[in-house]
Amino acid sequence: VMCGGVGVDRVPGLGHSGGGSTLLGYIGIDTIIEQMRKKTMKAGFDFNIMIVGHSGLGKSTLVNTLFKSQVSRWSSGWGSEHKIPKTVEIKAVSHVIEEGGVKMKLTVIDTPGFGDQINNENCWDPISKYINEQYEKFLKEEVNIARKKRIPDTRVHCCLYFISPTGHSLRQLDIEFMKHLSRVVNIIPVIAKSDTMTPDEKNEFKHRVRKELETHGIEYYPQNEFDDDMEDKNENDKIREAMPFAVVGSDKEFQVNGKRVLGRKTAWGVVEVENPNHCEFALLRDFLIRSHLQDLKEVTHNIHYETYRARRLNDNGGLHPISANNTQESNL
Ligand code: GDP
Ligand code: MG
Repeated sequence: VMCGGVGVDRVPGLGHSGGGSTLLGYIGIDTIIEQMRKKTMKAGFDFNIMIVGHSGLGKSTLVNTLFKSQVSRWSSGWGSEHKIPKTVEIKAVSHVIEEGGVKMKLTVIDTPGFGDQINNENCWDPISKYINEQYEKFLKEEVNIARKKRIPDTRVHCCLYFISPTGHSLRQLDIEFMKHLSRVVNIIPVIAKSDTMTPDEKNEFKHRVRKELETHGIEYYPQNEFDDDMEDKNENDKIREAMPFAVVGSDKEFQVNGKRVLGRKTAWGVVEVENPNHCEFALLRDFLIRSHLQDLKEVTHNIHYETYRARRLNDNGGLHPISANNTQESNL
């Protein structure tokens, strides 16, 4: 057989291509997929999503709509009992969601108070601090001599940034936030409460926001530079051209053509959240969960965390452990 060299020759699995060898039977390489599936099923996985935008933009409602449950504790009763915090707070809530035998530990990180102050200068500081603290936690576990078989992952895999549906332009704060944070976390900008705009207004606003993001050199997820190959690029180009998704969230059901659907009643009728002709919620959901969830985790690990790690170890003068003690109880 042709197994010389350093193993870069491709041996055809079944002998129907060149050589006419009959020795080549089924090896079973493809069962790795099934093996990985079983392990993933057993282990489950972490997914951590952060929501940012000023209060009342429908952040809590949208994550609840995305995950079809009350994953955000602060969903209802806004305005009555809640006060706007004086500074930005960071609140993480975790849930285990199971579907088809696969367990996902979902953590929603809410940032109440963001953008609600009169002076919003540096109000992304607590957010950026939180993101970096999770990288630090992970790093500490990683450089530990007796490290865990599986390091708990609290790193923020995705930051949904809610843009106000003003129809005008981005606010200075939107630009500043995304500029500062797009290098440390995967930012996915969305246009909030898009049922408050007409289709024309919506399209024009989307167009304008895209232009502004480009003008300010803001690289949101999926970043051009991280496309792996042409297939990736083509797929992601389509997504980038459709961003930012103009979304609608709701926890109310309506009867439409004999089916129960999530929606919102407006002057024009019921806006169906999951109907792609009504809004882009389904596009966001498919992108975020059904096609790019694993990639969000990989970009977080391979790019954002790696950047943090390299900087941190450099500052630390090489590969010394960051601290010998105090690392045991530091996770979660
Ligand atoms: P948060 O402060 O950003 O978490 O906003 P909430 O999710 O608590 O929602 C604030 C208010 O806006 C609530 O009364 C929601 O019912 C409403 N809301 C949420 N999503 C939407 C939406 O997509 N469109 C409209 N028109 N209202 C929404
Ligand atoms: Mg909320």
